[in-house]
Amino acid sequence: MTGSAVRHAETVTFGGAGLDRSSDLRTEAGKISRLLNSRAAQVLPVWRSKLPIEGATQDRLVFRPANDPVFADATNTPVFLGQHGKTPYFARDISAWRAPEQDTSQLGSFTDSSEQTHPDLKPDQRFVELRRIMARLSPLDAEIAAMAVGVFSWHRHHSHCSRCGVKTEIAQGGWQSRCSSCNSLHFPRTDPVVIMHVTCGNQLLVGRSPGWPEGMYSLLAGFMEPGETIEAAVRREVFEETRVTIGAVSYLASQPWPFPSSLMIGCLARATSRDITIDPVEIEDAKWISREQVLEGWANPGSTSIAMRKGAIAHFLIKNWLSDILS
Ligand SMILES: [Zn+2]
Repeated sequence: MTGSAVRHAETVTFGGAGLDRSSDLRTEAGKISRLLNSRAAQVLPVWRSKLPIEGATQDRLVFRPANDPVFADATNTPVFLGQHGKTPYFARDISAWRAPEQDTSQLGSFTDSSEQTHPDLKPDQRFVELRRIMARLSPLDAEIAAMAVGVFSWHRHHSHCSRCGVKTEIAQGGWQSRCSSCNSLHFPRTDPVVIMHVTCGNQLLVGRSPGWPEGMYSLLAGFMEPGETIEAAVRREVFEETRVTIGAVSYLASQPWPFPSSLMIGCLARATSRDITIDPVEIEDAKWISREQVLEGWANPGSTSIAMRKGAIAHFLIKNWLSDILS
């Protein structure tokens, strides 16, 4: 690989399927309402960031008509996601619904493996955490899922005006909030994160954070800061965490990561030094590994695992590196 974008970069999970967001319609409340109440409308119930799925071999999102009883507990209006072909897509937050006598102890945790059923959905349709199923969704379902989970997370955490503290009103089909007190407008935020595929010859730099499962390593990553270029963020993060210095930096691929609002920016970074001194506040360990070691780990998951989570951009970038199709 020579260091430009990954071929087929948008085949990454959450890479999109060409949903037309139809943002020109967001100011047209009447048109959105007509689309919502049309027979073609597909409305996704979202419950505490969990999504309803069905299917045995490949998971599919469960959509319902706008007037379905499953939305009885919804407090806000549906968010207009866009259109694909002639189908308008919406999502609606039903987090006010309680799941009586079901396991809710893991809700909100990174590794929530619990599933909940809803009395107004079929028994085999269940709410699951998106990270568990993201790699098994179609590109369109994954795109819709990322939009819905991300936008509702923003609604949940930004319900009040950041300038004057007054509760805001949702506008523009769910993609804006307005403060009636100071007239400021607010929009869903996206937080850029650089994630680095740092190489030195045949070797890759990987690290692990405190609290990760035993033996798990992945690519280094970190939030960008105001006033910083992508390249500078890559060099700063790698140096802060490992004291490894970086020369050339180039863009590989990006991935929306709605947990809750990140955009992962995958970069190839050429190391100009090899000695590692970790910052124990940021990471627990870092090391260089060869292609062969990664392949061996992927073939025999055991004591050491490198970026095993399918669907995450780290896995995608490393898989492309192993296949040598970074071009
Ligand atoms: Zn305000």
